[in-house]
Amino acid sequence: MARRKKIYEGKAKTLYEGPEPGTIVQYFKDDATAFNAEKKDVIEGKGVLNNLLSEYFMLGLGQIGVPTHFIKRLNMREQLVRSCEIVPLEVIVRNYAAGTMSKRLGIEEGTQLPRPIVEYCYKDDSLGDPLVTEEHIAAFGWASQQDMEDILSLALRVNDFLSGIMFGVGIKLVDFKIEIGRVYDGDFQRLVVADEISPDSCRLWDMETNQKLDKDVFRRDLGNLTDAYTEVARRLGVMPKNQTPVTKPTLIN
Ligand code: C5P
Repeated sequence: MARRKKIYEGKAKTLYEGPEPGTIVQYFKDDATAFNAEKKDVIEGKGVLNNLLSEYFMLGLGQIGVPTHFIKRLNMREQLVRSCEIVPLEVIVRNYAAGTMSKRLGIEEGTQLPRPIVEYCYKDDSLGDPLVTEEHIAAFGWASQQDMEDILSLALRVNDFLSGIMFGVGIKLVDFKIEIGRVYDGDFQRLVVADEISPDSCRLWDMETNQKLDKDVFRRDLGNLTDAYTEVARRLGVMPKNQTPVTKPTLIN
């Protein structure tokens, strides 16, 4: 296999140059981090599950006309995506209070919000991804007014889609984070859903028991993270029953 050029190594994924210009290979690692990488571990099989789940959500979004960077899954660890310029914002949508919103506003976790609330954080690990307002975004030129309208509309469409899918398998979509990329078709710019959508970036609670099936299992030491993600994949039919995730692939870099 030809050697590939590594473009970027993040906390949960590594990006390699793709086979054609304008493409990137996204490799899903087993590394889990929380609290801005203060807590770290390697969770065997997590990368495989996130690759399959993110493929499932991105394909579904594409099918309802929400543009994404996803092209195709290459194998159990990797997917081919369109290269894009990432807007330096973490776009968070919340349906129920949890996490930093509960802490900040003193609202009990699990309280249903009167309507979905969209928040923006500035993507900067050294600052701990601070919450920002649209005023900051406009003043510092991170995104234009038109971009912000498009981002809000994308975020709410993703929320409706994911909430519905999860509802169908007895899971509450408490909140999630997406990243937005700019792709250029000639002079024309389009915004697409980029990065990944997985239990690393969503809060997913069992509808009946409120059992957590997402990265909070790792953040809060609530049990086995792979079991939680496998349960999400099993309910969605993404992984056949009893199939254990493929682990320890050979990484070429
Ligand atoms: O921590 P907080 O409550 O703000 O997180 C809201 C949602 O965004 C959660 O689903 C969390 O998993 C996700 N998130 C993320 N990456 C971050 C921060 C939050 O995926 N850097």
